Amino acid sequence: MTLWLPELPPAGGPPAARRGTRALFLDRDGVIIEDAHYLHDPGGVRLLPGVAPALRRMRDAGWLLIGVSNQSGIGRGLYGEREFAAVQRRVDAELASRGAWLDALYYCPHAPQAACACRKPEPGLLQEAAARFHWTPERSWLVGDKATDIELARRAGLSACLVLTGRGSGTVAQAAREASTLVCADLSAAVAHILAEETP
Ligand SMILES: [Mg+2]
Ligand SMILES: [Zn+2]
Repeated sequence: MTLWLPELPPAGGPPAARRGTRALFLDRDGVIIEDAHYLHDPGGVRLLPGVAPALRRMRDAGWLLIGVSNQSGIGRGLYGEREFAAVQRRVDAELASRGAWLDALYYCPHAPQAACACRKPEPGLLQEAAARFHWTPERSWLVGDKATDIELARRAGLSACLVLTGRGSGTVAQAAREASTLVCADLSAAVAHILAEETP
């Protein structure tokens, strides 16, 4: 089980499937919330500044919003699905109280040595999402804070943005810039860039 579906508000739900639908894939830890190492306590959930307004802007512009997260703490035995669910419910509640939500979040619960097909940068999470949602890769983006996020975007044919609110600092940012990957201070700046570029 690697699909998390938030409780949607009454008027919620993903945009109707149509040709050319754009999706914004987002890493969670270090992009949506503070990256607390192997977070498993809902009390440790801290939304990063500007995240909810940024998600509202993308939704208003008709984008699908899908989280993609490696949760190897589960496979490493550091916490269980129950703890993950408690944390994710808190994330959803923090977003909902600010009028924002994700359409879904896909996560990999495996440890690295499991060599699964869904641990980023392997494409499994996106493949699973594709069975439920429809988007046009060349019009879609992935925002993350690690080199593995950027690598996943590259493999999937998505545009990528590295944000500096998590692990994406120092050498990672340097490497991203050298590879001509967009680097933004945070999700809010990334969204401003994406919408400015994509507006016809
Ligand atoms: Mg991260
Ligand atoms: Zn996996």
